[in-house]
Amino acid sequence: NLTSTAAFHNGKAIPKVGLGVFKMSDEAETIRAVQHAIQTGYKLVDTAAIYQNEEAVGQGVRESGVAREDLYITSKVWNSDQGYETTLRAFDDTLKRLKMDYLDLYLIHWPVEGKINDTWKAMEKLYADGLIKSIGVSNFHQHHFEKLFTTANEKPVLNQVELHPHLSQQPLREYLAKEDIVVQAWSPLGQGQLLTNDTLKEIAGNYDRSVAQVILRWHLQNDITIIPKSVTPSRIEENARLFDFELTKEDMERIDALNRDERVGPDPDNFD
Ligand code: NAD
Repeated sequence: NLTSTAAFHNGKAIPKVGLGVFKMSDEAETIRAVQHAIQTGYKLVDTAAIYQNEEAVGQGVRESGVAREDLYITSKVWNSDQGYETTLRAFDDTLKRLKMDYLDLYLIHWPVEGKINDTWKAMEKLYADGLIKSIGVSNFHQHHFEKLFTTANEKPVLNQVELHPHLSQQPLREYLAKEDIVVQAWSPLGQGQLLTNDTLKEIAGNYDRSVAQVILRWHLQNDITIIPKSVTPSRIEENARLFDFELTKEDMERIDALNRDERVGPDPDNFD
């Protein structure tokens, strides 16, 4: 269920399913979506400074009636804020907008050439100060980790990357498993593009489930944590009903075979 977690190497753990809030720009809609998700049982909300909705997320959390310490909040430092001092400031601004006094997880949003190591130093300081319970990264290829490891004292707990049946990221997943770094999929539904896939529709029909649920269940059975986004109450609920059915090995393999190494978002090597 929604309280089930994936363990980090630092002794902490993260809920396997959370609510993503990218492109939620309407304030009232964001507050409602966050509140509805939490009342449905979601523990994790994934925001970022660049989404410009941290204030609404904070308000949704407060209006949910669930205590802050029973929830799990992630945010991310944006590219233009990377570097040591600027990351410290960006984090402080994020906390102020959320009206919170700590984050459960803070991520480097994208690897910015030449800044990875200084940004990570700031993350390590915030972690040591207890202001962030766990620190991680997003959109890192293996070579970005290798660069980070040349100066890091702490290892990232998680890498949040684009990952769905058209981009299964098998080599990166193997590397992260070896390093004991949790994988979290962004755009797990391919931003909705995968929902019309015929193979997925056929599989979904056999389980009497939606295509979205089959895709998200595929992630979970592959030990990939997920943060699907929706503002629609019924879809928020649907995206969390994943723990009462299981895909067969054959169907898992059929979905694996849909991989095309095809992104809906940018390649981290050509983006900053
Ligand atoms: P997603 O794959 O979660 O797809 C979201 C879209 O799918 C929604 O807009 C909705 O139209 C549709 N949808 C959702 N549930 C559905 C359902 N049950 N039935 C039918 N349609 C449904 O895409 P996303 O929002 O890009 O990714 C999820 C989250 O990942 C984001 O909200 C954000 O938090 C995070 N993210 C992070 C990065 C990064 O660089 N770290 C980049 C993109 C997204």
